[in-house]
Amino acid sequence: MPRTTPLTCNKILGNFFVMFVLSVILFIYSNVMKVYFPRVDELGVKVFLGCFHFSVFMLIWCFLRAMLTDPGIVPPLWGFYMGDSENKRRRYCLMCHVFKPERCHHCSACNRCVLNMDHHCPWINNCVGFYNRKFFMLLLVYVLISLYMALISMTFPVFIKAKYLVSIHSIPSYHDIYMLSAYSLNLLLVMTISLFFKFHVNLVLSNSTTIDNMDKKNTQKTNIYDKGSKLNWYQVFGKNKLLWLLPITGISGKPIGDGVIWTQENNNMDEEVPGNEVEVRKSVPGSSEASKINSSPQIGASSIERSQATEIKKKEDIDTKPSTDSYRKVNNNYQSLK
Ligand SMILES: [Zn+2]
Ligand SMILES: [Zn+2]
Repeated sequence: MPRTTPLTCNKILGNFFVMFVLSVILFIYSNVMKVYFPRVDELGVKVFLGCFHFSVFMLIWCFLRAMLTDPGIVPPLWGFYMGDSENKRRRYCLMCHVFKPERCHHCSACNRCVLNMDHHCPWINNCVGFYNRKFFMLLLVYVLISLYMALISMTFPVFIKAKYLVSIHSIPSYHDIYMLSAYSLNLLLVMTISLFFKFHVNLVLSNSTTIDNMDKKNTQKTNIYDKGSKLNWYQVFGKNKLLWLLPITGISGKPIGDGVIWTQENNNMDEEVPGNEVEVRKSVPGSSEASKINSSPQIGASSIERSQATEIKKKEDIDTKPSTDSYRKVNNNYQSLK
């Protein structure tokens, strides 16, 4: 799905974050290559570099898919299915002038509403939503594999170098500083991204999102979208096991549902919901029932994510204020089309 995000100032500045991420990847990659490329004739090194390059290739592929895939735009005219006018008013976005489906939120960085929004990720300069969540998860997987490979392969060379520098009491050369700082950064990233990954795996397995998880009001309530870890996994990664580790969706590997209408517990997720031709099931989007969510601990959520989620919740409160002229106009259009 091509991206439809408007080009805002935030999006342009976000490209600097992307450049920073690419620089970090290059920094750690070049550190490994500096040590192992001269030994490329050895069979073990050949195998290691082959695996390492495959992992880095997958990382870049997932990074591009997560960055360039539209996370999910609200389909036009879906508001037919929202129920009474009170719910419509509560879920009307004053910025985009659309009715927000259940689990849809307005992102101030992207300046648009995003289906099943998880969070806005500055590192990919895109929101993580219904259609690119799998790519984001795979990005974390391949980032971690690459980082662990780099860390393990560099531990012995760095240990030898550090021992040598201590023994001769000399000032480290530029190359030594480069090697030690890349290794330290690698170690730091492994520790933080491991926690971050664990947090997101738990969210996927419980059919929750970062924003759902941050909703303090519902702390004590159960997650109505949780259908068991297997079906929750299908919801993000699709049913085709062969595509789970590839940043490809196709027909069989796409997320279950359409990101607009959400079935609840006891409903069968195997019954796929087609595009815009569905009826509202038990829940009405925007109702208090619809926001009962999982409240697992926020381990691994970055401070950026937490602040963004809090900001989004505040904006949602503003969005749900009583009707405006624009709301009345759009709602009247819906009514006349019915
Ligand atoms: Zn919006
Ligand atoms: Zn965004």
